[in-house]
Amino acid sequence: MKVGEQQQQQVAGTGNGVQRCAVVVVIDPGHGDSHDESTTIDPGAVGGGLNESDIVLDISKLLKGKLAAKTDLIESVHLTREGNVDNPSQPKLLWRQQVAVAKKCDVFLSIHMNSFEKASANGKEVFYNHKSSNKAESAKFASALYTEYKLPIAWRQPPIKTSGLSVLATYKWKSTKLGIYRDSTIFQSVKAAALFELGFISNDADRKAVIDNKDNIAGWLCEGICSYVSANRAALCGP
Ligand SMILES: [Zn+2]
Repeated sequence: MKVGEQQQQQVAGTGNGVQRCAVVVVIDPGHGDSHDESTTIDPGAVGGGLNESDIVLDISKLLKGKLAAKTDLIESVHLTREGNVDNPSQPKLLWRQQVAVAKKCDVFLSIHMNSFEKASANGKEVFYNHKSSNKAESAKFASALYTEYKLPIAWRQPPIKTSGLSVLATYKWKSTKLGIYRDSTIFQSVKAAALFELGFISNDADRKAVIDNKDNIAGWLCEGICSYVSANRAALCGP
């Protein structure tokens, strides 16, 4: 059964006690934006003539298609960007959170590729923000992603890391470049959030593995999201 407008309206406050149990997912392809600190589009890391921003966008679009087919679990899936975003109305990173909140996001996944000056650096890893109010659910979400992601490259150690990553934050944070505080408290409405580093774009083997497995990667991330959602319906369907 599709969860339609009627149920959404009930959640919005008609007060008959029906809970929204189908989940809204927002996928955030990293970079690909200009912002208040720079007027040029940020390509993210660059390796082998390829931009991180383009690779993660391709995979995010594939992932959106796979999640949209999971109608038993997922009500809707959205991307924070469908291409490059020039001059978003909100500051860097915060605009991504604003999109998620506007879509009534339950589960948020930001997708990136790593880079390092030494080409030997390699591996895959997943982060969640241990300072955020949704840290307990985010830890479970990160664990589910870790379990399902089968790309045949090494895991970095530890594979699941905690960080104060701003795009996952649910608190006020300070821009190191501008020296001003930004308010991410609206993001508290997001129940679980993680950031996946698919592999190192600066490492030839990692980059090839990612490029050769875009559809598989989307499939593994889809399985991770669905596995988390189906195992944690109580937390996701709460008031
Ligand atoms: Zn990145």
